[in-house]
Amino acid sequence: MAANTISLSISSNVATSKNLNSLHSRRFVAPPTICFPKSNPGLLSFSSTTSRSPVRASASQLMNEPLHDQRSLTSPTVVEVDLGDRSYPIYIGAGLLDQSELLQRHVHGKRVLVVTNERVAPLYLDKTIDALTRGNPDVTVESVILPDGEKYKNMDTLMKVFDKAIESRLDRRCTFVALGGGVIGDMCGYAAASYLRGVNFIQIPTTVMAQVDSSVGGKTGINHCLGKNLIGAFYQPQCVLVDTDTLNTLPDREMASGLAEVIKYGLIRDAEFFEWQENNIEALLARDPAALAFAIKRSCENKADVVSQDEKESGVRATLNLGHTFGHAIETGFGYGEWLHGEAVAAGTVMAVDMSYRLGWIDESIVERVNKILERAKLPTTPPESMTVSMFKSIMAVDKKVADGLLRLILLKGPLGNCVFTGDYDREALDATLRAFSKS
Ligand code: NAD
Repeated sequence: MAANTISLSISSNVATSKNLNSLHSRRFVAPPTICFPKSNPGLLSFSSTTSRSPVRASASQLMNEPLHDQRSLTSPTVVEVDLGDRSYPIYIGAGLLDQSELLQRHVHGKRVLVVTNERVAPLYLDKTIDALTRGNPDVTVESVILPDGEKYKNMDTLMKVFDKAIESRLDRRCTFVALGGGVIGDMCGYAAASYLRGVNFIQIPTTVMAQVDSSVGGKTGINHCLGKNLIGAFYQPQCVLVDTDTLNTLPDREMASGLAEVIKYGLIRDAEFFEWQENNIEALLARDPAALAFAIKRSCENKADVVSQDEKESGVRATLNLGHTFGHAIETGFGYGEWLHGEAVAAGTVMAVDMSYRLGWIDESIVERVNKILERAKLPTTPPESMTVSMFKSIMAVDKKVADGLLRLILLKGPLGNCVFTGDYDREALDATLRAFSKS
């Protein structure tokens, strides 16, 4: 295997296809414990010094109970991100914003700044302030309400957070709270990483995208007009609080966008989760609470495991970017916010899968299954018509995964659930994929 190639293969040995597939009724009973997949030596081996850190997920109470009983449970499901002294819990469950002690135990100091946006503030800001202050009169909460949208994920908007923090004389003992989707989480996290050289930080993600992906793992940052997420920092939160009730107000298009990242986990490392998704995609789109709770938990377990092995993306963490190099080119080339992030990732995933097939690394059935599940999820499977080969090439040339002038990509290789992160591929396959999906 080439030195610049990392391959990954993992399959679950606990949650079998059979019991995962049974999760498609509205009141299903999930496997008693959902353990994290471990490497399968029979497949492409993950060769490196990255030993698998255990991910401690509590028994899946939510998934074992019928739906009507779930809401009366007080304990959230907890997935631990294992990063030594920077470890933190992801709390997952319905009604968690009503459990003020969960948030309050992670607040440092007596001053809190909630960072949110114009769309989310009317929905959840009061509830969040109440959760932070209930029975806790010593804590005072400031808030800053940013304009809504990917096109505002930039330096000007970031400055509004610093303006508010400085005007409010927040000191190093304060806590920043991100309340919103991935845009707010990424910006608030970066603000927390750099305000006074770093202050305490909590994530309250309110979109599927943020609950399954962006709030976990400490990647924070903003866009530059020449490329997405090019300015940022790795900065871990104290906790992530996923209140699944917040998804009740999410528009359908945003729901589908988040599912693109859920599907990604199945493709790159968790074939049985992908099979479960094939049986449950309509339930997810219909916001079946139990199906969503399972998908969020399983996604967070996958993300937590990868991040625990490779916090700063020197290897295996890059595999979480399947489809993102093509997708970021779409977002940058087509205009931030024109397509949702997950929509661009979905089309990018189809392109990465097409290229993997052209290289002879996967069989045709995987191509078909990927197209089919994305279509069922109501996600695009081709880029916008205005994208050209040269647009893709020029934007991809400044991708963060370029090293020494070589564009490295995440591609599928082998049976479903296996991928590689590599710069060692036939350039003609990339050109052929670009030509097949865009105008020259
Ligand atoms: P987003 O933050 O723009 O949220 C989508 C829309 O939903 C927005 O209009 C938002 O205001 C609204 N919204 C949020 N919560 C809502 C709710 N509960 N009810 C109603 N409306 C609600 O987009 P997103 O898809 O959440 O995140 C995309 C961003 O995440 C991109 O910038 C992407 O780069 C980033 N991201 C980061 C990582 C990471 O590891 N840091 C991973 C994946 C994606």
